[in-house]
Amino acid sequence: MQLYRQHKVIKVIYKHISPAPDEMRKTEEQLAAEAAAQRKTDERYMRQAIAQAKKAMSLGEVPIGCVIVYEGKVIGRGYNRRNTDHTTLAHAEIRAIRKASRLIGDWRLEGCTLYCTLEPCPMCAGAIEQARIDRVVIGARSDKSGCAGTLLNIVANEKLMHQSEITFDILGDTCSALLREFFKDLRRRVKTQNRAKILPV
Ligand SMILES: [Zn+2]
Repeated sequence: MQLYRQHKVIKVIYKHISPAPDEMRKTEEQLAAEAAAQRKTDERYMRQAIAQAKKAMSLGEVPIGCVIVYEGKVIGRGYNRRNTDHTTLAHAEIRAIRKASRLIGDWRLEGCTLYCTLEPCPMCAGAIEQARIDRVVIGARSDKSGCAGTLLNIVANEKLMHQSEITFDILGDTCSALLREFFKDLRRRVKTQNRAKILPV
């Protein structure tokens, strides 16, 4: 893990001398090609986060999933287990952060990208800020608790110590569809249960 820390320091120093001359010489086509490649990479990892969300769904939990990537490797995965584990701390992002930190032996997750199917809530956005995660890639926005800009911005707030770069709407339709499907099914089940209660035995 010593190597991980050294690498981080070099990266931070480099960040402060930017923009690199190479960046300035890039043509529009090169920049567009890089953006397309980045999007492809983001979609690949978001699909893994969606796979995590499906695990939550199979347990009857709200389908939210997360993966954390460092240098092309997934170092933490998580899915929502709030009801299963009887704790509000079992959100997908918190579980993924715990696993990533355990693996690299450091609470700092500098240089990491976190992929989450739904915009982080205040608790998870706070953990992302505290863990100093470089980049956050989000599937669907959350009108109820989104803290990467929709309701509040904790993930990239200049008043806080750390700001992450945020990318929205990577496979957002798929992530939203999963949530809609879950809540539709939940409403149907509740309706059936209520009907069973009022019907005479
Ligand atoms: Zn959360």
